[in-house]
Amino acid sequence: MKGEYHNEKMETATREEIEELQTQRLKAVVRHVYQSNQIYRKLFDSHGVRPEDIRTLKDVAKLPMTNKEILRESYPLGLSCVPRESIIEMHMSSGSTGTPVIMPYTSSDLNQWAECMARCYRMAGGRPGDAVQITPLFGLFNGGFGMYHGARAAGLFVIPAGPGNTQRQVRLARDLKTRILTGVVSYGVRIIEVMEEMNEKLPDLEIGIFGAEAFSEPMKKRISDGLGIEVFDIYGMTETGGVGTLGQDCTAHDGIHVWEDHYIVEIIDPRTGEAVEDGETGELVVTALTREALPVIRFRTADLTRVLSRDACDCGRSHVRIAPITGRIDDMIIVKGVNFFPKQVEQTLMQIPGVGSNYQIIVEEADGVNDIRVNVEAEAGVTGFMVEKALKEALGFSPKGDVYPMGKLPRTEGKAQRVFHKKMS
Ligand SMILES: [Zn+2]
Repeated sequence: MKGEYHNEKMETATREEIEELQTQRLKAVVRHVYQSNQIYRKLFDSHGVRPEDIRTLKDVAKLPMTNKEILRESYPLGLSCVPRESIIEMHMSSGSTGTPVIMPYTSSDLNQWAECMARCYRMAGGRPGDAVQITPLFGLFNGGFGMYHGARAAGLFVIPAGPGNTQRQVRLARDLKTRILTGVVSYGVRIIEVMEEMNEKLPDLEIGIFGAEAFSEPMKKRISDGLGIEVFDIYGMTETGGVGTLGQDCTAHDGIHVWEDHYIVEIIDPRTGEAVEDGETGELVVTALTREALPVIRFRTADLTRVLSRDACDCGRSHVRIAPITGRIDDMIIVKGVNFFPKQVEQTLMQIPGVGSNYQIIVEEADGVNDIRVNVEAEAGVTGFMVEKALKEALGFSPKGDVYPMGKLPRTEGKAQRVFHKKMS
């Protein structure tokens, strides 16, 4: 199981070595943000914390937490910790609530991103010279460029396809012998459909790296079976510096290795802000240790996960493993007193034989009360009753919904929209 590494020394460092490095880097990054940014300095001052108070790794808990709001309020570059002339690239998350978040990068930040992302490619089994087809957008969204910077660092042959024109994607993959496909999960599903329409096979394709949407185990299996590949779940977000910065699962598929020499992760109870025990689910909080332009400090990601293991893994890597993201705190749907995440609906649907990979969850709100409708695509023979029964068993209540013939629900070529909110009155 022990594989090849992009940076063997760091990826297999002992826990003591990792913690020693984290301690040094934490002190340095706290000094950096305090000395170079007014907003950070005021935030620290208002919590009565000074850089010299941070002496050990545990002292991270003394630092104030930050969130998306602070980043939005400081739009465009208010939270930047470097002179403007040091910034050489930027990416942006649009967000559903209006003001976007901008992440600036220095040259060193781009190298840091490339290093993290290159480790992910190698961890998935990528080798120098492999053709990698990058299907996320090359633009403000960080996906395309992050996968590009990492592929360059890992010595891969980059096919910068971007999204869309799926028939051309399939032909490119066939003609250039693409071994690694990267993208958002819903695009993986789209490629399978188009391959079937074209009656095309891609025998050279072996590795799929998917991210940006929480996806369930059964969905992973569908993509893996449909494309005949091993599927990896990559993690990272605009605020931490983009795709791959936080890590990915390895060939043991036993959790996501977080690059701890670059990030400190904490799991907290979202209501109290206190740390939870390893194994307990909570909100992931991230401190970026090695970024220059905008290192986040104790950033509340709103992503829910848990620590699976801090022991060395079968793959030889020592970095902490966390569970794939269950959902985001703000994605939680409450219907008739029952809380659940869209991913749980997906997990249930994908286990019903004949149900397709496209579905919609429509939350209908009338007088402050939610009702839910789940629309699916399925082969002939699958009835609404079967879907309702499966969801009732899994979630504890019966959503309404319709069963459509395969291919009849709308398709997206970027990040899929699965959940729709409707005001009914
Ligand atoms: Zn591993």
